[in-house]
Amino acid sequence: MAQQILVTGGAGFLGSHLIERLLDRGDYVLCVDNFFTGTRRNVEHLMDHRHFELMRHDVCFPLYVEVDQIYNLACPASPIHYQHDPVQTTKTSVHGAINMLGLAKRVRAKILQASTSEVYGDPAIHPQVESYWGNVNPIGIRSCYDEGKRCAETLFFDYHRQHKLNIKVVRIFNTYGPRMHPQDGRVVSNFIIQALQGQDITIFGEGLQTRSFCYRDDLVEGMIRMMDTPDAITGPINIGNPGEFTIRALAEQIIELTGSKSKLAFRPLPSDDPMQRQPDISQAEALLGWKPTVPLREGLVKTIDYFEKLLKEEPLH
Ligand code: NAD
Ligand code: UDP
Ligand code: UDP
Repeated sequence: MAQQILVTGGAGFLGSHLIERLLDRGDYVLCVDNFFTGTRRNVEHLMDHRHFELMRHDVCFPLYVEVDQIYNLACPASPIHYQHDPVQTTKTSVHGAINMLGLAKRVRAKILQASTSEVYGDPAIHPQVESYWGNVNPIGIRSCYDEGKRCAETLFFDYHRQHKLNIKVVRIFNTYGPRMHPQDGRVVSNFIIQALQGQDITIFGEGLQTRSFCYRDDLVEGMIRMMDTPDAITGPINIGNPGEFTIRALAEQIIELTGSKSKLAFRPLPSDDPMQRQPDISQAEALLGWKPTVPLREGLVKTIDYFEKLLKEEPLH
């Protein structure tokens, strides 16, 4: 039977793709967003869909609606955006989680939290397994996001234990793809735009830090599979692509794929920038029958194509 599904942060990069997938399979979707980093444009093509509704709302405030499932994605995800107003970032994670959990409790909805690999901080265990408790600085410039997301996980598990809520927690590793915000400062979008515009590629530090990049379609598939698992499965569960690359190797690959003449330019490494990150996805493979299918090269080609068209339509200033 078609479900009534609330997606918070639905006008963002991942949320808008998730909504497309849910509408495609026949569900009804209420998209809630305050347009802090998301845009109406990301969901414009869905406005005439009979099963779609868009609502401007900040999850820090209570929300009274009737739904069967909630995907809680509302939160800026890129460092420049979540550090722009750090107090608001923590409020979004914590007050947002409380309100969405309160809503789930009242209507007995199943609720999924988009958590993050940032809960592992600068990890001492590699690759990261879900049982690792992490190495997070509680007072640094990334803490508003890392600790906010950690507290949200705590709230999810306390509502589960105390109020018997049906919860699902996914820890998302770096995800990229078309519809990323062109100016959100994340490494994949930054490097592609710099390469396409022939500007220097800004490598923070020596570029020896690693990240593992997951294409957005794979990620969204994993998230939906997690929501559809039996009640006993709560997570937290890692979702990401275990293919691990140095930031320098990413830059070189983007230069090659775009045929750009851009040069590498080295900039100071921001504080608390994790040195390495790679998901152990054995739980996702076993419990969801899921693993990523899009290799980095293939995903980058699609993302480059997207930004090329975008820059032609709307040159950045
Ligand atoms: P995004 O910035 O594109 O999307 C976040 C959305 O949340 C935006 O549309 C924004 O306007 C909205 N939002 C922010 N604060 C809000 C508030 N108070 N009330 C209502 N809406 C609000 O980022 P994304 O990459 O799509 O990330 C979606 C979720 O996935 C986030 O929770 C993020 O922390 C998580 N995540 C993403 C990644 C990644 O690599 N993309 C990695 C780990 C976790
Ligand atoms: N809440 C909401 N929508 C609902 C029900 C609750 O936004 O449909 C919010 C409400 O603001 C409340 C919070 O969720 O403060 C937590 O709800 P809960 O029932 O857990 O706690 P309480 O109402 O006792 O503070
Ligand atoms: N990074 C970089 N140049 C940029 C943007 C980011 O070298 O222009 C680095 C950043 O320091 C980090 C990695 O790329 O080590 C990933 O950064 P991003 O902001 O995409 O995500 P996160 O740090 O949250 O994983």
